[in-house]
Amino acid sequence: MKILFAASECYPFIKTGGLGDVAWALPKALKKLGVDVRVILPKYSGIPEKYRYNMKHLTDFNINIAHRDQFCGIDMYELDGITFYFVDSMYFFDRNGLYGYMDDGERFSFFSCGVIEAMERIGFIPDIIHVNDWHTAVIPVLLKTKYSWINAYRDIKTILTIHNLKFQGIFPQDVLWNLLNLDSSFMTDNGFEFYGCANYMKAGMNYADFVTTVSPTYAREITYPFYGENLHGLISRIGYKVTGILNGIDTKINDPEKDPDIPYNYNKDNLENKAKDKAELQRELGLPVTNSPLVSIISRLTDQKGLDILSPAMEEILSKDIQMVVVGTGEAKYEDTFRYFAAKYPEKISSQIKFDAKLAQRVYAGSDMILVPSKFEPCGLTQMVGMRYGTVPIVRETGGLKDSVIPYNRFTGEGTGFTFSNYDTYDLIQGVNRALEAYKDKDQWKKIVRSAMEADFSWDRSALEYLDIYRKLT
Ligand code: ADP
Repeated sequence: MKILFAASECYPFIKTGGLGDVAWALPKALKKLGVDVRVILPKYSGIPEKYRYNMKHLTDFNINIAHRDQFCGIDMYELDGITFYFVDSMYFFDRNGLYGYMDDGERFSFFSCGVIEAMERIGFIPDIIHVNDWHTAVIPVLLKTKYSWINAYRDIKTILTIHNLKFQGIFPQDVLWNLLNLDSSFMTDNGFEFYGCANYMKAGMNYADFVTTVSPTYAREITYPFYGENLHGLISRIGYKVTGILNGIDTKINDPEKDPDIPYNYNKDNLENKAKDKAELQRELGLPVTNSPLVSIISRLTDQKGLDILSPAMEEILSKDIQMVVVGTGEAKYEDTFRYFAAKYPEKISSQIKFDAKLAQRVYAGSDMILVPSKFEPCGLTQMVGMRYGTVPIVRETGGLKDSVIPYNRFTGEGTGFTFSNYDTYDLIQGVNRALEAYKDKDQWKKIVRSAMEADFSWDRSALEYLDIYRKLT
């Protein structure tokens, strides 16, 4: 079985969120199952030099896009037994960031054409191309249209994984003829049409042989208007080819027993060291070294993450015997909210407004609880990483949060975290209160911590589910 995994980002080369983690961990888990899986991503200038300067140049050619011939190089790098291909274009990918440019539609149309045109030239014709989110969602369309004449590609099947339906790649309809060599006949409900614009995600969902989302609950939720981002009708219509598979986490990188980025390593039988990590973290953040429960937030600071119901709860939460640490960047209003509370209550909350992966690991290890009150959460990794580090999640019951956290039952003592269901401030505070109450009983708390640490979030389980779909398609 040969799989080409196309993604707009991939750890450790470059990542902005969960997709980057998945693009690294899932191929590795599939490889263990005997699948020949290779990954292809853009060669951004933000990729560290140690990788960029050691790539092997395989081939280059021109791609005609927006009525220009544009250079496209294909480089290769092997890491951990996996072959990574990089689509090289200084014009499109030599930028400071990954996304958010005026010409993103053109950049990722180019990347998608590059992926398809590369396969024959590098001699890797996969059984399945697994594409991810809107950036690569036009690959299934292009295979069946612009590139349908290539015989070698006739039998290739496609899977689209939706990591976040919020971002769909919506552009003026002229992208069809200017970027994709398609005509206006593709502006239909079975193609790209979306309120008069061209929607890449929608087209991908229409054309892919199979569609997955990153948790079973999210797959169900997006059939409803609240979560469906105006595509709920389509999701229901193509329900026969949609399923949800919960992401895993990289249990090697996220291993409290071996993590080189935390001061004291520990496991579920040696939780004294977790307490030491907490004290170190409190010192580092300038918080008093006390036994108060330390609640962390490690997140993009955006509406999705539930910060609009958290902001009005902050005063009340901080009035309790509690400490908080926030690691995140995002919308200015939320960055400022956390800066404000850190200035007002420096003994209670530390706001680290930055993206810092090493600090995040120290926070996972040193916190008692991790708060994830998301409005919607396709899967969510932070609650799973938190559990692996014995940091008990407090989450809203949505998407992957619901699928990964077992609500604590105070009568039986079972459960791996605390959950609340309604998207409102009052419910959130109740959720936090229940966690704080449980924390007071040390033996009870240790039991919850251990249950959380025992939960299996390895990719091996998810990879088997993907393999099952690959097999059914081929
Ligand atoms: P999303 O992909 O929606 O941002 P996920 O929970 O799926 O959310 O993945 C977020 C990933 O990014 C996690 O691995 C988390 O540790 C990491 N992360 C988020 N914010 C930061 C930050 N400020 N610094 C370091 N890592 C972060």
